[in-house]
Amino acid sequence: MAATGVGWSCNTTNNPATAIQLTVKTLLRHVQDLAGFVVESVRQRLDEPNPRIDVDLDADPRRKRRCSCCNRPGRVHDVLAKRRWHFVPLWNIAVFLHYAPRRVVCPLTGRPTVEAMPWSRGKSPYAAAYMHFLARWARRLSWKQTAEIFCASWDAVRRSVEWVVAWGLEHRELSGVTAVGIDELHHGRGKTSLNFLTLVYQIDRGSRRLLWIGRSRTEATLREGFDELEKLHAGFLGGLKVVCSDMWKPFLKVVRERCGAALNVLDPFHVAKHLNEALDAVRRGEQSRLQDKAARKDAKGGRFLLLKRGTKVRGRAREKLKAVLASLNQTSRAWELKESFRNFWRYRSPAWASAYLKAWTTRAMRSKIEPMKKVARTLRRHEDLLLNYFRAKRQYTNAMVEGMNHKARVSLARSFGHRSFEMLKLVLYHNLGELPEPPCSHKFC
Ligand SMILES: [Zn+2]
Repeated sequence: MAATGVGWSCNTTNNPATAIQLTVKTLLRHVQDLAGFVVESVRQRLDEPNPRIDVDLDADPRRKRRCSCCNRPGRVHDVLAKRRWHFVPLWNIAVFLHYAPRRVVCPLTGRPTVEAMPWSRGKSPYAAAYMHFLARWARRLSWKQTAEIFCASWDAVRRSVEWVVAWGLEHRELSGVTAVGIDELHHGRGKTSLNFLTLVYQIDRGSRRLLWIGRSRTEATLREGFDELEKLHAGFLGGLKVVCSDMWKPFLKVVRERCGAALNVLDPFHVAKHLNEALDAVRRGEQSRLQDKAARKDAKGGRFLLLKRGTKVRGRAREKLKAVLASLNQTSRAWELKESFRNFWRYRSPAWASAYLKAWTTRAMRSKIEPMKKVARTLRRHEDLLLNYFRAKRQYTNAMVEGMNHKARVSLARSFGHRSFEMLKLVLYHNLGELPEPPCSHKFC
């Protein structure tokens, strides 16, 4: 006898209602561990505007109830009121599990405790599989989109992410971290201290992830971060060989103080940023002083060409750059200094790099261009740290950190509208933490 509609169902009855019921049950048993429980009935309301499937569960009389705190079998104390859990929707049809949890007398403490239910996590009205499902999608889509697409509330998505992140943070492994990068991330409007976050990344080859996030970017912030990481994994700071950072004084100070054994590497990216800022200041000053109309026209619109790496400016842009440089004398010299500093990073031996740095800073000091002199002084002051880049065999740059930071900015933009620190933290750990996930008997997505 052929089954109607759902021909692949395991039963062969021609009663469609039974066929569907068995199918949902089979599917559910396949995706969710229900050991110790039986599916009593599956009710469907598919014709309603919000179609749904309700699954009633009951305790398997052949199995003993187990305590949720120690997972040992215990005597049943009483039966609580029926609860409802959202489960992963089936073909965009909402699915709910219903069950009246028993309380068992815990064999360890002797107190009545709610029994263990493999699909349930604490008091959450969402089944673990559902939270897992939402949290995974929330990494690919914005939270709002996730909620809309999977008929969940925004709050369900938030709680799911919260649960997954909390589990991941508790279970992550912090051993074997030898290189970290420290960077700041700006968020929101304004430039107050609270508009910055301090991020600590692991930048070991093959293992790049966010390790810690702190509010603002002071000495105290980074100290707190180091303390926390050390507390989570004793010997964390002692195991560090390389710490990458920019020239932000509070960071340098704390790194020196706490990671004495590690090489503090200043990365090319941030030095380039300083040079570019100086060059831009020179251009702005000089451009505003220009009197000649033709020269003013030539100099206009050259900002991005000047800041771009010289060798990457080609074709017509190159012509324009030449015109800009010809019309701005000081800027032209500053630009040449900026471009030539790139050679510094090409050395292999610290000694030669040091010689180059001396020559370059001398040239910059003689240029009589104040912003460039300022950069030269800064670089001289940090010479030892700059040379660490070569001592670390040029393996570590904050380019990796910048990549991570870019990803961080994208995730923050996606979480648009939720600006509290706790929320930012959640989003960043979720997207960049490479956190382990709670075990799940089925991979939904
Ligand atoms: Zn117990």
